[in-house]
Amino acid sequence: SDAWQRLNSESFDLLVIGGGINGAGIVRDAALRGLNVALVEKGDFGSGTSFRSSKLIHGGLRYLETYQFGLVRESTAERAVQMRVAPHLSRPLPFLFPVYKGDPHGLLFMDMGLWLYDALALFRVPKIHRAMRERGVLAKEKDLKKEGLVGGLHYFDCSADDGRLTLENVLDAESLGGVCLNYARVDKLNRSSDGSRVVGAKVTDLVGESTAEVHAKMIISATGAWTDSFLEGAGESREKLVRATRGSHVVVRKEKFPIQNAVTMLSPTDQRPLFVIPWGDHTYVGTTDVDHSEGPDRVFITRDEVDYILETVSHYFPSLNISVDDITGTWSGLRPLVDEPGVESNVKVSREHEIFGGEDGLMILAGGKLTTYRLMAKQTLDEALGHLAQSGEKPKDIERCKTRDRPLPGGRGLGEDWSETLPREFAQRHGVTEQLADHLLKSYGCRADFVLEGADAEAKEPICPGLHHIWAEVDFAVSNEMAITLEDAMVRRTLIAMKEARKSLEIAPAVADRMAEKLKWSEGERKGQLERYRSWIENCMEAIG
Ligand code: FAD
Repeated sequence: SDAWQRLNSESFDLLVIGGGINGAGIVRDAALRGLNVALVEKGDFGSGTSFRSSKLIHGGLRYLETYQFGLVRESTAERAVQMRVAPHLSRPLPFLFPVYKGDPHGLLFMDMGLWLYDALALFRVPKIHRAMRERGVLAKEKDLKKEGLVGGLHYFDCSADDGRLTLENVLDAESLGGVCLNYARVDKLNRSSDGSRVVGAKVTDLVGESTAEVHAKMIISATGAWTDSFLEGAGESREKLVRATRGSHVVVRKEKFPIQNAVTMLSPTDQRPLFVIPWGDHTYVGTTDVDHSEGPDRVFITRDEVDYILETVSHYFPSLNISVDDITGTWSGLRPLVDEPGVESNVKVSREHEIFGGEDGLMILAGGKLTTYRLMAKQTLDEALGHLAQSGEKPKDIERCKTRDRPLPGGRGLGEDWSETLPREFAQRHGVTEQLADHLLKSYGCRADFVLEGADAEAKEPICPGLHHIWAEVDFAVSNEMAITLEDAMVRRTLIAMKEARKSLEIAPAVADRMAEKLKWSEGERKGQLERYRSWIENCMEAIG
């Protein structure tokens, strides 16, 4: 309510619309530079596309094939930045790329490609890649198909907790004085009396059901896949800017799909690359790339996508017999690609970002990747400040961009090699197992101490059998991380729903009880939260049957 009050009463230098990774990155950068900034998100932070990615901070090996060297160079540089500023969320992940007889590129060609990949990263990689023969590949992943295997490449990129990366940007912006609100939707943009400039927005608080007229010198839309529908609804129609394509993932338990490395596979149907990625006690596989005909508010996996993913898995891991019955979770998201008229194939649409407008007080950021969010935020803000200077509205004493060096809240005091000694020390300090310490440190970094502050023995117990998440995380999500719905807690703050969708329904009532007490939900509200949560899970698992 404090944030809502400020939104209603202050005049802002900048209003950012959309709390995905791009909006979150911009609001943090702006707050760090000393701007009076506000961010509004119509759902939960990251609930659009940004928690539904393949969770990789990567250079994009496949962009070498299309000679997008600039994008690879930029992405690998940002990968190095993220490993430094958020080492708990952006962690080195070994990849294995097996090469078979008849593949589009042979082992030698792939080896040369990876030398280029490492070189474009200026060799700032956890380990230089290695080419290996069949035996080396099978020593790393024994369940891979042996028939036709020639060899493979072992290289490194990073895994990332995309939802938490988004959230930590928001939390940092807030701690620096920014106003950040989830469940607050922009319905209309307001123009000056002569219509020449956008000067504010009408915002609806979807929790309290009130509205506010927000005044801002500059507005940035970071609404991702919603960009066109948002602009149309807000009275700012223009030519189509975004082409949204759907990508989906499925989750299987590690005991059924035991891998040590992420594995790059080529679909036997269309030769597109898919990844199998180890994820704690689970393994996930994705992604697809298909046109999305429903609106951006309803994005779930279809049976065709499930079959496409499982076909590739069976091709590469035939002995594991992974079937639809082994799937314990799914997620799907929309890539907000910049529309390129005339380009028919989704796969060929560029992953680069573009910044539109600005002269009239409204800027639009579209496209890009999770990996490069920090750089996109910097470039967008540099342009916004340029426009404000031109219109004579740039505030004084604006500082330079600091996001390249300032750690995210959980990254403070952590080195890139934190995982070697810290979990043991943390476990001893808090009297918890090393596994739990590892889980908490990987999720919260140095903020993990606060999660356990004041937690009794019961709060340190797992919420769901077979998963590390504990009750103290639900408490922390409500008190410190702006979780206000059951879905926020189960899907994004703890990831329980993504890993064990159906099992999560058994524990949802107890989580709802705990949240109801803290958030003072009525019985009707508690029931409504449970119903909405059940419906979300049913949608995620509908294609699984
Ligand atoms: P979003 O996260 O969608 O944020 C936009 C937000 O705007 C939404 O939360 C929405 O609710 C909000 N909004 C819309 N309208 C309004 C309104 N009127 N008022 C207030 N708020 C509004 N990139 C990588 O680097 N690595 C990967 O591994 C990777 N994998 C991917 C896999 C898939 C399947 C997909 C789909 C994408 C992947 N990407 C990856 C790309 C990356 O996830 C996206 O580029 C990025 O998340 C987009 O962020 P965004 O902030 O632009 O959009």
